[in-house]
Parts: sequence; C-alpha cells; structure tokens
Amino acid sequence: MKKIGFIGTGVMGLPMARNVIKGGFEVTAFDINADALQTLRQDGGGVADNAKGAAQDADVVITMLPNGDHVLNAVFGPNGAIEGMGPQTLLVDMSTILPTVTDEIASRLSETGHRMVDAPVGRTSRHAEEGKLLIMAGGETADVEAVHPILECMGDTVIHCGPTGSGARVKLINNYMSIACNVVTAEALTLAERSGVDRNLAIDVMMGTTAGQGHLATTYPAKVLKGDVSPGFMVDLAHKDMGLALDFAAAMKTPIPMGAAARQVYASAQVQGRGRDDWTAILETVRTLAGLK
Ligand code: NAD
Repeated sequence: MKKIGFIGTGVMGLPMARNVIKGGFEVTAFDINADALQTLRQDGGGVADNAKGAAQDADVVITMLPNGDHVLNAVFGPNGAIEGMGPQTLLVDMSTILPTVTDEIASRLSETGHRMVDAPVGRTSRHAEEGKLLIMAGGETADVEAVHPILECMGDTVIHCGPTGSGARVKLINNYMSIACNVVTAEALTLAERSGVDRNLAIDVMMGTTAGQGHLATTYPAKVLKGDVSPGFMVDLAHKDMGLALDFAAAMKTPIPMGAAARQVYASAQVQGRGRDDWTAILETVRTLAGLK
C-alpha cells in the first residue's frame, strides 16, 4: 500500500492529504476546484484531471467529500474513480454521509469485486492539520489493518467499529448526540443569562453535576446500563422539574424547545408506568418507542 488517490481536498481533505504525503505515501489528488489542489502540488503531491486519473495505479483511493451524492458521483460518475481502480484497489470513504449510501456504494463496488472501508472522522480541521483526528473505521478486519498505516498519518485514534458501514453509523450517532447537546447547552446558558444569573457561575455549577459531566460518564454506567432502574432521581421528579424549568423559561421569555420535547419523553415514561423508576429509565422508554424489547 504505497500509492494513494485522494479525492476532495477541501478544508479537511487538504491537510489530511498533506499528512499522508508526510507519512511517506505517494498521493495523487483530484478536486473539482483546481485552486484546492495547488498547495498540495507544492507539498509534493501529484494532481489528476479527474477522479479516474487519481485512482489510476492507486492501491487505495480516499474520498473526503461533502455528501453522499458527491461520493457517488466521484466514484461512479463520468470519469469516476471506479474507471481507474485496479482489481485490488480499496476505496476508503472518509466523508460524513448517510450510512445507507455507504451500504449502496459498498454494494455497487462489490459488483466489480472491489472492497471498501468507511472511515469518517471526528474532531475539527485543526485536528486534521495536526494529524490528530479520531477515525471510525468500518470494514473487513484485513482491510482495516491494511489501511491502518495510512489512517495513522491522519489521526491519533483509529477505532475499528465493525463491518463496512459501521464507521458511518457510529459517526452519525456521535454527531447526533453532540449536535443535540449543543442546543441544550445553548438553551441552558441563555436561560441563565435571561434570568440574571452569572453565566460563568452557572457553568461552574453545571460542571459539578450531570448537566456538565454528561450522562454517559455518570448516571448511565451507574444505573440503567447495569440493568438497575431503582430510583436514584425519579422520572416523576425529572418531569416535574422540567415543567418548572419550562414555566420559568416562559416567564423569562426564553424559548427552550429541546426542553419542551424532552418533557414529552418523560411524560411517555410515566404513561409506560416508569414514573417511579430512575430517570435513566428514559433509555428504556425510548427503546420501547423504537420497538426494541
Ligand atoms: P469542503 O467543502 O471544505 O471540501 C470538500 C471538497 O470536495 C471541496 O474542495 C470540493 O470542491 C470537493 N468536491 C466536491 N465534489 C467533488 C467531486 N465530485 N470530485 C472531486 N472533488 C469534489 O468540506 P470539508 O469540511 O473538507 O468536509 C469534508 C467531509 O468531512 C464532509 O463530509 C464533512 O461533513 C466531514 N467533516 C468535516 C469536519 C470539519 O470540521 N470541517 C469535521 C469532521 C468531518
């Protein structure tokens, strides 16, 4: 595994491709935006006219593109990577895309005997520059091991999540949680500001409780993940407190829509007879709503 085709040299792809070059691999890149390729040329990378050209003679083709349609187009569209890939060339898609599109790409690749690793990344463009991304890889163990030295140029943490498609799934689940928590965090800080409380003091308080420390690090491992929903803090009390927070936010003219949605879930738990269970039993409520036993 020496020659890499790199398709998509944007905010993330450019520093990632640079780090692959620094790691001693030969990189030939393609981007529909020619400007994005110029600096890579100065860093010792080759430049192709299209995805097919970037894939020619490559052991591995990496895609780092905005969305699933872009990956489908770059791989299967006119002058797409598939036209340049040899029988053993492996596709590594590092974009954040819909996991069902990852499945579709893997399935279409298998028609020509090609395999794929999905390896989306966590963290930011700064980490991409520093080669310190967190990479969630999905694929056959042998394929993930084969591309490991390349992934290590771009990230300091590589987690093999399971078969092809599982990297994309874990990435999306991770993003779902952090993106949703971002809104709840903003709501809480806005409510603090609107109610005349010192925001930094509120942050200090919340960093000492589950609010700031997070359920995954505190309540879930101590309770519901162990199968224990005996009440520590009860669903009924959480429902009551969320009602107080919503009433207070209304008085402060502060919209907290995530809180309003959350209260409905606590109400559902009560309807399911979980009012006197621990508040982490919300996991069981949501699992039930999703049809899980
Ligand atoms: P970007 O828009 O900066 O870069 C995408 C590049 O792809 C662009 O240079 C564009 O010209 C090129 N491109 C689009 N279609 C193409 C095609 N058919 N062939 C060749 N090149 C094509 O986006 P980005 O920030 O680098 O993000 C890339 C992926 O990484 C996205 O899926 C994003 O969600 C994910 N991601 C981004 C971050 C971040 O902090 N920016 C963090 C983690 C993951």
